Amino acid sequence: MSLGPNNAPAMAEMCWLLEQKDTRLLPDAIWLGGKRHLYQHLRSVEALSVTQEVAPSVLCPDCTSRSIQPELLMPPISTRLPYRAHCSDCGWVPLNAEQSRLWHIRPAKIADWLNAALGLKDRHKVEMVVDDVLWYLGDREIRRQRRSLFFGCRIASASTKVKAALDRLARPGAEVLITTSDPERIKTTELADRLFVSLRAIAQLRKSHLVVENIEPYLTGLATVEQSDETSLRLLHSQRAVLINGTKFSVSPQVHDFLTILEEADGDEVHKRHIASKLAITTATFRTADIFKRHKQVQAIFVGNDSNGNYWIKPEFLILEGG
Ligand SMILES: [Zn+2]
Repeated sequence: MSLGPNNAPAMAEMCWLLEQKDTRLLPDAIWLGGKRHLYQHLRSVEALSVTQEVAPSVLCPDCTSRSIQPELLMPPISTRLPYRAHCSDCGWVPLNAEQSRLWHIRPAKIADWLNAALGLKDRHKVEMVVDDVLWYLGDREIRRQRRSLFFGCRIASASTKVKAALDRLARPGAEVLITTSDPERIKTTELADRLFVSLRAIAQLRKSHLVVENIEPYLTGLATVEQSDETSLRLLHSQRAVLINGTKFSVSPQVHDFLTILEEADGDEVHKRHIASKLAITTATFRTADIFKRHKQVQAIFVGNDSNGNYWIKPEFLILEGG
């Protein structure tokens, strides 16, 4: 399934929102904040949803200059426009639910998605162990070691409680904390010595679920990577690098973006016109020789192309769903 180039920035936005004390958004933040495409993407994959709570005020969509107060209209004009608000300039303005109610993301939903993506769903029910901060996802054997997996957001703000919960539920050193929190910030707390993994590094958004890439490499550190002969795009987003025969090669931001566009097409062909527009260059100046300059080997190994100007990630380097 192709989700387009909004997927990675939408994931980043979602992680940011999960780090906020209040994960609700005013409708104005959705429609007027300049990130509308990301929020609509998050809505379409069901990460964001519209609450039942009516916003205290919204900007009038007709004149976009006055604040108006949505109210439920009884009976509604139509099921699509059940709200209205009075604007002193425009009169009565009909509104739909998405324009009138608060939007939100529930961290518990992400915990459920992770529990399923990690293959724990049949054995463990997700348990919230620190209110709105930490969820216990279940135990799983990884590399012959039993690991206890957790999901947490705003970890640093509740580090004492989180530490107590980890100590109670996991054997020392066996916990894995998947989080949206900033690792640098966590390192300043009493959780500094715990093993945490960034949600963005291991997971990708799909419709009403997450896909988790192999989590194992994040648990063992890079030392093992350097001894392996792995060739993959596993470090593309976390370290802006690729692995070729076990050696890590950093790539330029443009090569990173190029590979990301193809990756998000999930192996489908992407025409150079589309890639050029995403890279903000003209089709006329689109030359992969320029884009890959110092990274010709990267292109040769990971990218397929045809004479019609189509490019794709070679299937063996795609992250498989359900993995
Ligand atoms: Zn108005």
